[in-house]
Amino acid sequence: MQAGVIAVQGDVAEHAAAVERAAAAHDEPAEIVEVRDSGIVPDCDALLMPGGESTTISRLIHREGIAPEIRDHVASGKPVLATCAGLIVCSRDAKDDRVDALGLVDVSVDRNAFGRQKDSFEAKIPVTGLDDPFHAVFIRAPLIDEVGGGVETLATVDGRPVAVRDGPVVATAFHPELTDDSRVHDLAFFPEREVVA
Ligand code: GLN
Repeated sequence: MQAGVIAVQGDVAEHAAAVERAAAAHDEPAEIVEVRDSGIVPDCDALLMPGGESTTISRLIHREGIAPEIRDHVASGKPVLATCAGLIVCSRDAKDDRVDALGLVDVSVDRNAFGRQKDSFEAKIPVTGLDDPFHAVFIRAPLIDEVGGGVETLATVDGRPVAVRDGPVVATAFHPELTDDSRVHDLAFFPEREVVA
């Protein structure tokens, strides 16, 4: 499998390591490519949209012509894992003029809303599809404040959705790439298979 990490900005290396671990658990060879230009996404079987700064990521993927390729990737049913800033960029509405949201996940988000309460925090949370709770790291995390009818909520904190699935896209307000546990990457990229811990 060829997995592309949108690498215009954000925590790219951590995602690459996590997807390699998830693929290895399924004896699936994974080739990771860093995406900074157009023309690479069409060859990818799976995509990662990392955390970072959503306004910067949004500006660069539009400027480089990567944004329409990500939309085509999802339209053809191929998987995406979007985390934190990635979730903001993939949302329907980020309520910020500097983010030209891709509308790939039918949620609206409030940037940094969790962060206003507490800059960062960690929580062990149950996630649909995983046997044991996941250690979730939140850093200036967005709050998902509206969820469309076709969106499945996979995890909540204080009754708020923090992980969702909309078709081939799994999006999290937290950073699954920042722990050694690659089960959320597994859930996103191998949806037909049982998650390997
Ligand atoms: N709050 C950041 C943003 O709006 C995202 C933070 C993160 O990815 N850790 O882009």
